[in-house]
Amino acid sequence: MSVHTLPLPKAGCAEPDIIRERGQHEVFCGLTGIVWLHRKIQDAFFLVVGSRTCAHLLQSAAGVMIFAEPRFGTAVMEERDLAGMADANEELDKVVARLLDRRPDIKMLFLVGSCPSEVIKLDLSRAAERLSRHYSPEVRVLNYTGSGIETTFTEGEDRCLAALVPELTDATSEAPELLVVGALADVVEDQFARLFAEIGIERVSFLPPRNSRALPPVGPNTRFLLAQPFLGETARCLTERGARHIPAPFPLGAEGTTAWLGAAARAFGADPMAFRHATAAAEARAKRALQPFRDEMAGKTIFFMPDSQLEVPLARMLSRELGMEPIEVGTPYLHRAHLAEELKLLGSDVQLSEGQDVERQLDRVRAARPDVTVCGLGLANPLEADGLTTKWSIELIFTPIQGYDQASDLAGLFARPFDRKTRLRV
Ligand code: SF4
Repeated sequence: MSVHTLPLPKAGCAEPDIIRERGQHEVFCGLTGIVWLHRKIQDAFFLVVGSRTCAHLLQSAAGVMIFAEPRFGTAVMEERDLAGMADANEELDKVVARLLDRRPDIKMLFLVGSCPSEVIKLDLSRAAERLSRHYSPEVRVLNYTGSGIETTFTEGEDRCLAALVPELTDATSEAPELLVVGALADVVEDQFARLFAEIGIERVSFLPPRNSRALPPVGPNTRFLLAQPFLGETARCLTERGARHIPAPFPLGAEGTTAWLGAAARAFGADPMAFRHATAAAEARAKRALQPFRDEMAGKTIFFMPDSQLEVPLARMLSRELGMEPIEVGTPYLHRAHLAEELKLLGSDVQLSEGQDVERQLDRVRAARPDVTVCGLGLANPLEADGLTTKWSIELIFTPIQGYDQASDLAGLFARPFDRKTRLRV
């Protein structure tokens, strides 16, 4: 059997129609990414250089996850900084000195730009270089922007990982290496590492790593697989370092996970028998776990407001594996190359929209009256007040949803709003 006989999911038709909108949009800024990134890179600290608004956003987004010594904070710029009356660089140096003195566990420090730091044109890349010279090799200081002017919700992770790429050493090995790109919950990462080993892909690393001292190498023998669909800038930086992207759908649902692993298996010339042996039981288990959700949710309509960039893979999984019917799939940005495999599976009869004009989109939601609308927190209350059922897209980022063992958890997140409605009616 040749490796090219590895199963491919049956594709629908490509080239769907797209509504493109540029108007008022309602999404969180890229600072939100700190909430999951600080849990992933365990010796890193994220210092937002911003205002009290930024500090409040982080506090409320992180909410329940705050613990005694958090790995993020805000250097609040006061009126004097914003008015140019104080040297913001000097103030920043003092804050960093106090922080690193108190927290010797910090080995990587991200200076995270915000709207205020951009408005006063505080050059955080120069600040990071200066501070890195001072504190290296004990602490590396990097920077990226999470500002609402430049980034939406999940783009903060993209900017953070792109900032890590220049730090990766050149790969010296002749053997091909697989790099999985995108923050995954540790439990999911461990499952994938085991599956890749069973498939026969031996050299696998993950970006971001759990420890900043364990950054993976990169070079022309690196093939990278995106674990998240919102990493356009990171992918571009890796490509510039010689790495090659493996086109694949994303690992959501049983079918998506098999297709994602299968794309890597084909790229690495893995033995198809080893692939089936490694994946068949887990795939069958995931399909069985999804069946009760399919019974409950098949035929229900769903509308995605643009928010996390996960919308297309989610719509594909919910329609193909649970039988739901997407009315409109909105995404802030449609990365055609990275979503090409997803779009083939989703088919051309699904209405896509890119960008946002929130009022017009809300009109379409109210006219369509979908069974569930996936949207940001700010839009959920008004829609619920209109009698519509909503699902917060932020939950889909904070919950481990990738891989076989999480497929039913993902379905459960969409079933929950219906259960809640049913309970409220009883
Ligand atoms: S970065 Fe901008 S959008 Fe984000 S919290 Fe700060 S001020 Fe608001």
